[in-house]
Amino acid sequence: MSDILLEVKDLKKYFETPAGTLHAVDGLTFKLERGKTLGVVGESGCGKSTTGRAILRLHEPTSGEVIFEGKDITKISQKEMTKLRSEMQMIFQDPFASLNPRKTVSEIIAEPLRLHKIYKNKEEQAKRVLELMELVGLSERLVNTYPHELDGGRRQRIGIARALAMNPKFIVCDEPVSALDVSIQAQILNLLKELQRDLGLTYMFITHDLSVVNYFSDEIVVMYLGKVVEHASSVDLFAHPTHPYTKALLSAIPVPSIHGKKERILLKGEITSPINPKPGCRFAPRCEYAKECCFKDSPELREMEPGHFVACHFADQF
Ligand code: SF4
Repeated sequence: MSDILLEVKDLKKYFETPAGTLHAVDGLTFKLERGKTLGVVGESGCGKSTTGRAILRLHEPTSGEVIFEGKDITKISQKEMTKLRSEMQMIFQDPFASLNPRKTVSEIIAEPLRLHKIYKNKEEQAKRVLELMELVGLSERLVNTYPHELDGGRRQRIGIARALAMNPKFIVCDEPVSALDVSIQAQILNLLKELQRDLGLTYMFITHDLSVVNYFSDEIVVMYLGKVVEHASSVDLFAHPTHPYTKALLSAIPVPSIHGKKERILLKGEITSPINPKPGCRFAPRCEYAKECCFKDSPELREMEPGHFVACHFADQF
């Protein structure tokens, strides 16, 4: 029997701008099982980071439901949400920007414990900080150092320790390795995997990098200008990509092969504006298969194979 931790139904997040209404997230629906990872991929500006923030109510959703452990958290008060946020955490892309440069490693990690008044005495709190540092592979000798004295990998470990401080169940990882050197990326990804296995964590993993998301995710959602264009298990998506946009993204992953280079699909055409978007498929101006109907009718997300959803009028012909 599946054990759903998080269910998102028709989530929308619009922003009012001087030029009109920006449809950053436009009708996202998915279920996420406890202990699993949902990867969310797409180019910059596709709405993937806004999705993570709207789920945690760091941006108030415009409409839709976010059901966490059976409760729609879009309906609860800010006070209740603050309490619940200890169970729903976020790891940010740029560890340096997300850490207070005037605080030491121990002060940064202890911050959520202090805010939620978890410990009555400082010794117990300090003990928990050291436990968390060990958990994420930070040496005890770094306890009184400042973020600028550390490299990117260690800074991200501080961000992870801070996110784990309150024993969360769900973590949004927003491009957690894209600001790091390639050699350090694998260490941080391995750490996140180990923590998931040991602590039973559930992740939403947001990235523009499909090779990372493949390694990390059980299921993948591909977003294009605020819309989900394809949703499938990681294995299925890589074996049978169906939407023309997913195919183009996958073709850009460098794969060493004895048969020579694989052909890269270069996307041409203009990107549609997500401000007051016109009817029709948002990918149509860049799609080599676009027909007249694509510019008039928005394709629904349809289940083409069990668990494999595609939003394209001609998905059954590819
Ligand atoms: Fe391309 Fe039309 Fe499919 Fe959109 S609906 S992806 S424009 S073929």
